[in-house]
Amino acid sequence: MPFFICPNCKDRSIDTDRVESLTNSQAVACRRCGFGFLFELMEDYFPAPGTGLIVCDASGRILAAGRGVLELTGWGDADLLGGDVSTLLGISGFEAGRDPVALTLEWGVRRLGERLEITARSGNRKPVSGDFFPGYDDDGGLLVALSPRTDPS
Ligand SMILES: [Zn+2]
Repeated sequence: MPFFICPNCKDRSIDTDRVESLTNSQAVACRRCGFGFLFELMEDYFPAPGTGLIVCDASGRILAAGRGVLELTGWGDADLLGGDVSTLLGISGFEAGRDPVALTLEWGVRRLGERLEITARSGNRKPVSGDFFPGYDDDGGLLVALSPRTDPS
């Protein structure tokens, strides 16, 4: 059963009535905040309160960034949109060949609880936990969920 999450407000919905699927060719707006489209997930997902969601296209370019991303990264929509998510956020901390963005895009698999670092706009390195979900519609792409991480690395 497909689950949907709003990249902006993180509102989750289940497509019980298949309404979302029937209108797949048309973007379905979020019922709660009115954001322009929802991201489809294979399984339900419960983002933490401080999590920021970022939607990327099949080449890793940022299409949308939700609430919480600015607080987490210091980057606003104008800075983020169209940028390469890995480069712009300086996502690092993974082993060579284990880039979660690349793995998710190439293999279409989820990567959960990745212990990573990003570079905030201030230049400071920030420890984050990253969850990565492949897009299931024709456009591919991925959803990146970044949460602040306070435990020692
Ligand atoms: Zn929403």
